[in-house]
Amino acid sequence: MAWDVLSDEQRELRELVRTLARDRIAPRAAEIDESHEFPWDVVELYREHGLFGLFFDEEWGGTGTGVLLGLVAIEEVSKVCATSGLILTVQELGSLGLKLAGTQEQKERCLPKLASGEWLGAYALSEAGSGSDSAAMRTTARRDGGEYVLDGGKRFITNAGVATLYTVFAKTDPDAGHAGISAFLLEADAPGFEVARLEPKMGIAGSTTGELVFDECRVPAANLLGEEGEGFRIAMRILDRSRAGVAAQALGIAQGATDYALEYARTRETMGKPIAEHQLIAAKLADMETACAAARGLLYRFGQMVDARAPEEELTKASAMAKLACSDAAMAVTTEAVQILGGYGYIKEYPVERMMRDAKITQIYEGTNEIQRLVIAREMLREQRAYLLAEV
Ligand SMILES: Cc1cc2nc3c(=O)[nH]c(=O)nc-3n(C[C@H](O)[C@H](O)[C@H](O)COP(=O)(O)OP(=O)(O)OC[C@H]3O[C@@H](n4cnc5c(N)ncnc54)[C@H](O)[C@@H]3O)c2cc1C
Repeated sequence: MAWDVLSDEQRELRELVRTLARDRIAPRAAEIDESHEFPWDVVELYREHGLFGLFFDEEWGGTGTGVLLGLVAIEEVSKVCATSGLILTVQELGSLGLKLAGTQEQKERCLPKLASGEWLGAYALSEAGSGSDSAAMRTTARRDGGEYVLDGGKRFITNAGVATLYTVFAKTDPDAGHAGISAFLLEADAPGFEVARLEPKMGIAGSTTGELVFDECRVPAANLLGEEGEGFRIAMRILDRSRAGVAAQALGIAQGATDYALEYARTRETMGKPIAEHQLIAAKLADMETACAAARGLLYRFGQMVDARAPEEELTKASAMAKLACSDAAMAVTTEAVQILGGYGYIKEYPVERMMRDAKITQIYEGTNEIQRLVIAREMLREQRAYLLAEV
């Protein structure tokens, strides 16, 4: 067995997820992609086997097994089905606001239901006119007695229509820029809330991506997360952690494509030998494997940092680097996997075609890779480094 950074207990749990992914999710992946239907059977499978619990502490009904193992689970599932991996990623994304800024009452009310999977979560920051520039959002929230009234809308929200709990960001003080943004917990049955439409997409076809509308939507004041004006900070703290979930999804896609291409190259023969023995194909395989391993190093390091309670300010750069490396690897590796399969790579009978379409979104959501590069460079400029050369 190859050397492994995981403990025996972590390896056992990975084996359980790997078996479920291989036996129960892989046979559904092409169908999920073709039907564009949200896979409730996969949600049920996660519920039955307690997989949502991987992202929660024991006090909320979770396994308390840490962030690294959660990332490993997303990676394993995403090797066979990126839509199914995303369901785990977004359960964490939609719960992090509560974990980081929720009151005891809010946590008790919501976290056990998210840990069991009874509720699915969602995170609603982006709007039609504000994706990368999230502080330019237009959705407003005004206090009215014991409630807040939300007006506006959100665009591109994963789990729209299937989530029960949405973490929503809105301006309580529209003139105050970042400082005017607040965060709310919104339940799907809130009056004035509607999912207006779902987007047809290039990939992750079974995942819902929707437009939310708030028309005088009433949310109890008890659902404010943190204080008024803290929403932007909460949104960024969530992303510092959650983008690792996208990285894990991307890494799974990349490794799944590499493994598939390797097996194909072993058996497909041209000019009298397996294509894996042609040096140009062997080099591609080597580069794909190396890209996955390098990206995994950054991702697992991030998981270990969170589990070891590393200082929060160090998580920003670490998760941005993991997301950048894993998603760029996913796009490059899946493109090469299609190339290795030749014409067969381009047709739907073979999974690398879907993997290449699924990979693209990982370079876009939870902050585009251009934004990740800006974040990494900003953090580098802040760091105090010991320079080996006396003068620069
Ligand atoms: C399938 C899908 C699921 C999604 N799920 C969610 C979700 O669950 N919740 C949520 O809140 N959002 C979600 N999003 C939204 C996603 O996070 C945004 O689409 C993304 O952040 C980019 O924003 P934008 O689309 O407005 O692009 P823009 O911000 O308009 O960017 C357009 C281009 O300009 C580049 N760019 C922008 N600003 C800069 C800059 N300062 N420097 C250099 N380049 C720049 C970008 O990198 C990009 O290439 C999802 C999107 C998709 C497609």
